[in-house]
Amino acid sequence: MSQVERQQWDVVVVGAGGAGLRAAIEAREQGARTAVICKSLFGKAHTVMAEGGIAASMGNVNSGDNWQVHFRDTLRGGKFLNQWRMAELHAREAPDRVWELETWGALFDRTPDGRISQRNFGGHEYPRLAHVGDRTGLELIRTLQQKIVSLQQEDFREFGDYEARLKVFQECTVTRVLKDGDRVSGTFCYDRESGRFFVLEAPGVVLATGGIGKSFKVTSNSWEYTGDGHALALLAGAPLLNMEFVQFHPTGMVWPPSVKGILVTESVRGDGGVLRNSEGKRFMFDYVPDVFKEKYAQSEEEGDRWYEDPDHNRRPPELLPRDEVARAINAEVKAGRGSPHGGVFLDVSTRMPAEVIKRRLPSMYHQFKELADVDITAEAMEVGPTCHYVMGGIAVDSDTAAARRVTGLYAAGEVAGGMHGSNRLGGNSLSDLLVFGRRAGLHAARYAAGLAARPVVDETQVDTAAAEALRPFSAEGPKDGATPENPYTLHQELQQTMNDLVGIIRREAEMERALEKLAELRVRARRAGVEGHRQFNPGWHLALDLRNMLLVSECVARAALERTESRGGHTREDHPGMNREWRRANLLCQLADPSGGLAATDPVRGQIDLVRVTTEPIRPDLLALFEKEELVKYLADEELYE
Ligand code: FAD
Repeated sequence: MSQVERQQWDVVVVGAGGAGLRAAIEAREQGARTAVICKSLFGKAHTVMAEGGIAASMGNVNSGDNWQVHFRDTLRGGKFLNQWRMAELHAREAPDRVWELETWGALFDRTPDGRISQRNFGGHEYPRLAHVGDRTGLELIRTLQQKIVSLQQEDFREFGDYEARLKVFQECTVTRVLKDGDRVSGTFCYDRESGRFFVLEAPGVVLATGGIGKSFKVTSNSWEYTGDGHALALLAGAPLLNMEFVQFHPTGMVWPPSVKGILVTESVRGDGGVLRNSEGKRFMFDYVPDVFKEKYAQSEEEGDRWYEDPDHNRRPPELLPRDEVARAINAEVKAGRGSPHGGVFLDVSTRMPAEVIKRRLPSMYHQFKELADVDITAEAMEVGPTCHYVMGGIAVDSDTAAARRVTGLYAAGEVAGGMHGSNRLGGNSLSDLLVFGRRAGLHAARYAAGLAARPVVDETQVDTAAAEALRPFSAEGPKDGATPENPYTLHQELQQTMNDLVGIIRREAEMERALEKLAELRVRARRAGVEGHRQFNPGWHLALDLRNMLLVSECVARAALERTESRGGHTREDHPGMNREWRRANLLCQLADPSGGLAATDPVRGQIDLVRVTTEPIRPDLLALFEKEELVKYLADEELYE
């Protein structure tokens, strides 16, 4: 039996991005003793990188906006596959969450008459993104951290201990959710600096670990995005929803190499930037799909006029939802009209004076000037699709954020599935974090408070988790006496596989090859070995993260192979159209071995079972927000009949 330190909490929040911090604040305000644990330094979550803004229909810039319009835009963006109740709650509650941030000290950019300013973004009918230049995520995290500090000061006044009811464990990783029967009992964790193991016992666990981008070679995501929360949920017995939907943001830098994959925010296009091919043509006018034809400008002149007079002109097609723009760029490059390094040109330099660009897009300007010596006020950028966001995630109850099948487990933010359907609109993530972070914290706290007896942590599970975490130190090579596998090599091969075979355009034979390669990598990953000690050992951390990335990658590949249509962030070259019958289908991934073990699983068959479930019909009053002609394009025949 291992000697592992234990602490007791009511709620453990895994992740200190926007979703995790908002959940923690709510749980603490409900009276729950709450622990927050994060892999990174406190304050350095992925949310910090968010640039464009928070989507909320406050109507500050155009009074025509309201939650119903936001709901409609969100469903259109997600091609009607969104969990409609989540989209409804999100659209209704986002404005309150933004105003609340302001009362906690967030300093948003203002309109001339002093209200929170809102900017245009792809797929949003009205200017809707509350922002702080292009540093919105930073301000969001700063504000939530400040709120946490103020709650800790309150506790100090009351109990003489800042951490009496809210404590942050930074630079610590959770590797397993522990269970007592079907109920959560806590988390197994290690301190990344010292390698020390510890257990946080709690009846409520909120997963808020973000996305999966580090499974792909070209990505805008930071090092934390190894799909940990997705894998932790799977291993605990909770299913993942629609993992085939991965968003490739259309405008990641493709050149120079020092900034490859790094995001060029959509605000560049929202503020006037245009996309051109090698012939200088604004090609997006050739790629407006029929479902969007009436909403987008037909000529450059009309598109340009829209920036000044949006009420009497239609928006330019550069502002179509991300999946459409990403596919268009891909098609231009494939047709030989790309930029020298395999992207297209995004030009803001000829559209706005340099000082306006520097004022409205300060991070973009400084980042590319410093990292790549590209002056966006003087030259066009070379951009192309980069893996950016996962719409698929833990299947949750829309109202409570409770994960299915595991009592006491909750999920919010990018790790949760359903809210964005097959494609997320820009700005809808930051609002999602706030709306569902709050709900997850609220319901986890209520659940913990309502329990007659706390679940008990099983010593055997702690020992198994410790042995699993230590395995890379005693890994052996294959029988021929070769050295153990190098985790970095395995990671590179995984990223290349996902990029090449399960990337933006997908084909059956390639995805089958990907699954074979993943099976091979899985076997090799069990022999991933590291040298040295547990202290300061990044190779060891990666060896542990590989389990998660491989699990999640298999989910993406299996679900993508199964869905024989193209919709949102899932494009099949062999099934190019959107099929209305598929709107009724959700794909759930679950662990093939329900005991949560991985060892016994047949390496060829894989670790994941895929189950098809029928979507819940959209509530009639929400359907009534759309014209019938539009619904006919999306809904299956029997739904229309109903
Ligand atoms: P994160 O903010 O990533 O937080 C995850 C947390 O989980 C981190 O603290 C991490 O350390 C922790 N964690 C992970 N695994 C573990 C583990 N095993 N144990 C312990 N802790 C763990 N969205 C918008 O709406 N508007 C925008 O303008 C926008 N701009 C963006 C710009 C960029 C460059 C990128 C990459 C994304 C952007 N997005 C934007 C998307 C948005 O930023 C993310 O979807 C969102 O921040 C995710 O927040 P989160 O709270 O779910 O996760």
